[in-house]
This record gives sequence, structure tokens and C-alpha cells, in this order.
Amino acid sequence: MFVYEAQDGKEHVALTTGFEPGTIDEAILVRLHSECLTGDVFGSRRCDCGEQLEESMRLLREQGRGVLLYLRQEGRGIGLANKISAYALQEEGLDTVQANLALGLPEDARDYRVAAEILLDLGVRRAAVLTNNPAKIEGLRRHGVEVVERLPVQVEPNPFNLRYLRTKKEKMGHLFPSSAVMLQDEQTTSCSSNGAS
Ligand SMILES: [Zn+2]
Repeated sequence: MFVYEAQDGKEHVALTTGFEPGTIDEAILVRLHSECLTGDVFGSRRCDCGEQLEESMRLLREQGRGVLLYLRQEGRGIGLANKISAYALQEEGLDTVQANLALGLPEDARDYRVAAEILLDLGVRRAAVLTNNPAKIEGLRRHGVEVVERLPVQVEPNPFNLRYLRTKKEKMGHLFPSSAVMLQDEQTTSCSSNGAS
């Protein structure tokens, strides 16, 4: 485990497995995980972060070689207090993007330059990235890491995070494998029409 301190004082973590830093030529499996206290630690089902972290760790163990970057950019970079304020607005019906904007915050304040710098410091110049978020791929590429492949992270939607996942898909361009979110949507729709009849 390697800890990097960024210029803003935040400590980011690189958890490596199966390789010695600086010795790799081929592409390495990489997961960039943004800190989510509520999802990662407390198991909140409002988002899919905890499950994505667990699934990524499982895939890295299975592969036997790779790196998990745990990036300290809570709440897509707006911080924990702002995220909790945004949750309150979501209770009133706003989606995750609308809530951030209503608080005068960007919908996504994350920056992947630090992630790219950490990877390059570890000697990882080519990466196969575990993510549903195209912005992470672009962010790494922009800052000098070659992304050879994107591998989806499969999580099952639940009734509490379905709306959140749908917003990520529709407004933030996230790519979900096997259209899990849409399928669930159709089931929900047919359930409610059954209920009405
Ligand atoms: Zn989360």
C-alpha cells in the first residue's frame, strides 16, 4: 500500500497487488475508486460505491495483479458535508445532478490528474480500467496514461439507488453493463401498471 499526499493535502492510497512498482511493461488492471464514506464504510444503499469497491477488490484478487487507487474526493469531489446537504434535497425530489447545481456546486468536481500521476509514479503507463464512467478514461488519457481497455463493474440495482443509477446513466454518461438499470426500470413500470389495473 502506498500513500501519496497531493498538493491540497489530501492523502490518496494506491493498493497494489502482484507487481513491483516500476517494473511493468504490459497493461495493468486499474480501479480508480472515489471515496464514499456512506457507501464504502456504512454500506448505504443510496449509491453503488460500496458494491463497486467490493466487486473491484474481488476482480483484482481474481486477476492477481493490479492496482486500486482510493481517491479522496468524497461526493464526486464536493466533500462530505455538501453531499449530505445534496441528499436532503434529493429527499425533496431532486436528482443527484440537480441537487448539486441547486447548492451552487458542480455536478462532478473530480479531477483525475492526481490518479494519472500516481499510476505513472508506480510505473503503470498502460491500464485496463475497471469503470462504468467514461470521464475516468478520458481523465487518465489526458494526463498521460494509455487506457487499452475498459472493463465494466457489474452491480445489481436496488430500490434505493435505482434513481441515482438512472441519473448517472442518463445525465452523466455512465455505461451500465447488460442494461441492468433499464431492465429494472421496465419491471418497475410494468409493476405499477399492474397495480393500477
Ligand atoms: Zn457513494
